[in-house]
Amino acid sequence: MKYCVITLFPELIENAFSTSITGRALSEGILSLDTVSLRAFSQNSYGSVDDYTYGGGAGMLIQCEPVWLAYQEALSRIETKFDEECDELSTIREEKRTRVIYTSPAGRVFDEGMAEEFSREESLIILCGHYEGVDQRVLDRIVTDEVSIGDYVLTGGELPALVIMDAVSRRIPGVLNNEDSAGSESFENGLLEYPQYTRPKEWRGLSVPDILLSGDHQAVETWRLTEAKKKTKEMRPELLEKWYKDRGIM
Ligand code: SAM
Repeated sequence: MKYCVITLFPELIENAFSTSITGRALSEGILSLDTVSLRAFSQNSYGSVDDYTYGGGAGMLIQCEPVWLAYQEALSRIETKFDEECDELSTIREEKRTRVIYTSPAGRVFDEGMAEEFSREESLIILCGHYEGVDQRVLDRIVTDEVSIGDYVLTGGELPALVIMDAVSRRIPGVLNNEDSAGSESFENGLLEYPQYTRPKEWRGLSVPDILLSGDHQAVETWRLTEAKKKTKEMRPELLEKWYKDRGIM
């Protein structure tokens, strides 16, 4: 997977992504990361890329041209061709081209299903907004997926980009090794994960459930499923309802 992130803060993306598991996958060449600085495409001598919004209102908006030029740069870096003459949005969307994710609180809420879908792409361009966001015209022109990481507003799109990249990356073969293996994570089977325990058996008067020490694999599996349902009922009852419905129960 090749990521190219268009951002005002390339170092934030690079530093965070080159840490821990994703950092190892970068050094092993399983993932690649490129960043394009929006500021490099400023249209003025101050290096700014934002301006006031038409129609009034507080806050600044990122302008079209720096984003458009940064997008061209991102495309050329991931070696994808794009026909500049192609003005029809519908025609552009029909072409097989690199997906462009715009991180936005007004987007579709990111989930494991989306992570799975994105992980099947060869490359992804991620555009991080800032200030009040980005001029709609350039978004209409280049964005294929507008994605939110939840119903709250952050100051910029860099953390959402990292969240998306992390969730996508761990689905790519070779990124996780045995020690950090995906196992049966929350959402994998539609339920949240059951509680887990490691050594020691006794910790400050609290014991690991006996069943996990029994060596009876079938009993352990049954216990885990029961606990996963219990946890899902408590935290996300709508997921448990769906789990039953998908299995024709209820
Ligand atoms: N005016 C925008 C709105 O009301 O929808 C909010 C802009 S926000 C202050 C600045 C940038 O942070 C956005 O352009 C987006 O890139 C990013 N951002 C903020 N919250 C986000 C979220 N929940 N999910 C994804 N991106 C987010």
